[in-house]
Amino acid sequence: MTETLTETSKLTERVRASLQACGVAAEAYGDDHDSFSPLTGERLATLRSSTPEEIDGAIAAAHEAFKTWRNVPAPERGNVVKRWGELLTEHKQDLANIVQAEAGKITSEALGEVQEMIDICDFAVGQSRMLYGKTMPSERPGHRLMETWHPLGVVGVISAFNFPVAVYSWNTALALIAGDTVVWKPSGMTMLSALAADALLARAVAESEAPKDIHQLVVANREGGQKLVTDPRVALVSATGSVRMGREISPQVAERFGRVILELGGNNGAIITPSADLDLALRGIVFSAVGTAGQRCTSMRRLFVHESVVDQLTEKLVAAYGTLSIGSPLEEKNLVGPLINEGSFQAMQQALSDAQAQGGTVLTGGKRVLADETPNAYYVEPAIVRMPGQSKVVHEETFAPILYVMTYSDLDEAIEMHNAVPQGLSSAIFTQDQGEAERFISASGSDCGIANVNIGTSGAEIGGAFGGEKETGGGRESGSDSWKAYMRQATNTVNYSGKLPLAQGVEFI
Ligand code: NAD
Repeated sequence: MTETLTETSKLTERVRASLQACGVAAEAYGDDHDSFSPLTGERLATLRSSTPEEIDGAIAAAHEAFKTWRNVPAPERGNVVKRWGELLTEHKQDLANIVQAEAGKITSEALGEVQEMIDICDFAVGQSRMLYGKTMPSERPGHRLMETWHPLGVVGVISAFNFPVAVYSWNTALALIAGDTVVWKPSGMTMLSALAADALLARAVAESEAPKDIHQLVVANREGGQKLVTDPRVALVSATGSVRMGREISPQVAERFGRVILELGGNNGAIITPSADLDLALRGIVFSAVGTAGQRCTSMRRLFVHESVVDQLTEKLVAAYGTLSIGSPLEEKNLVGPLINEGSFQAMQQALSDAQAQGGTVLTGGKRVLADETPNAYYVEPAIVRMPGQSKVVHEETFAPILYVMTYSDLDEAIEMHNAVPQGLSSAIFTQDQGEAERFISASGSDCGIANVNIGTSGAEIGGAFGGEKETGGGRESGSDSWKAYMRQATNTVNYSGKLPLAQGVEFI
């Protein structure tokens, strides 16, 4: 008991020191919003929630700052993001400490999350010089036809607990270079990580000539998020979280003709063909299924294995799961940290019991561990469940480390089973047959926003567009031309002919 208490206070001390190093202001602390650590269940800090008036004020301030910011040249806007990236690099360990304590990630994944922020800052800085519009040939003589891209306004960012800062930075780095301002409503469970990321951005802004109100943070639960969703001054709502949340907010934003980027739940699958390199597949599967304790939107949850290799692969998988060390992410040896809270643990138990009722067999895992040492934290053994086929439970996203294994005999059948779920985020095939690989990523292959070959479903790079189809919401963030979602497109026709010919040969006056 004494040992637990000592470790408990060490974690809190480390988080507080990291918050201070990132520059989180003393005024952030208060008495009505607790932040708990899933590592131990301890309370890390208590914050002051934003009042409805403060949330309204944050939107108003961002709306006002937009009027100046939109006229700042984009490469100059990029300089603020560049400085943010430098500060994130300087405080990478501090921010990772807070992410680890609040979201329960192992050290390399927490550091990886901050690296992803640094990467998107680099990307956005380059993009600030590449907000290209096309010039098209006009059908009329003496006319120029072109497109220009302009800032949208205030972007409301609503984010999930499992990527407490990276997804925010994907949105914010691009929104800022695009000339938008940002109001952020982070997950209520990871407010300390948010405060630290925002404090670093505040420093970058303070060192520049940018209006200080271009970024705003509100400390609130979903009711606070509702204000962003319904306020017409918020031009774009970029929301990351469950399908349930997307279903609630999407019609609300549509009603006022606002724009949305929805990044919702996944139910990611992989197909293992007879030609696959099974050792490589094994590593890809284990990382995707078990990383972040199965709490990534891209976590692998369904495996379709050719019947000729299923026994061999499941044997290897069960053996690999047996070697995973589970426990506090503060210890380097541990690869599997805690679930976020008791609710997640209950949801996992329910899914395992449903799977068994629907004919599944648990091959390994599923039990809670370390309950005596950390009674208020929820560490679980990742589970593998052999399923007879596509039962109901396999169609649902359970945000915990459960991998359902199913078999197939024909690739078309495997692709059909793979696509038969409502979500469409990430997918993979493991094969050494080029034809099979091409088939999987073709128009009639995987229906997901991400379709990989010979790597797992998780661990995307920021250079590609990130997002998914169907109930995952259709949004795209991060790389490629995702920047366009943060801007509005104008088509300009410039007539330098001195005459007024009409399009399509129409004659008028
Ligand atoms: P959640 O839906 O419970 O909450 C997400 C965010 O939405 C939180 O900030 C929450 O306060 C807010 N929110 C919820 N309902 C709201 C409402 N009606 N109005 C305004 N705001 C509202 O999700 P979570 O448990 O934090 O995260 C896990 C889920 O997020 C999983 O389903 C996961 O797949 C998904 N996720 C998706 C992606 C992606 O890019 N597709 C990335 C990360 C997480």
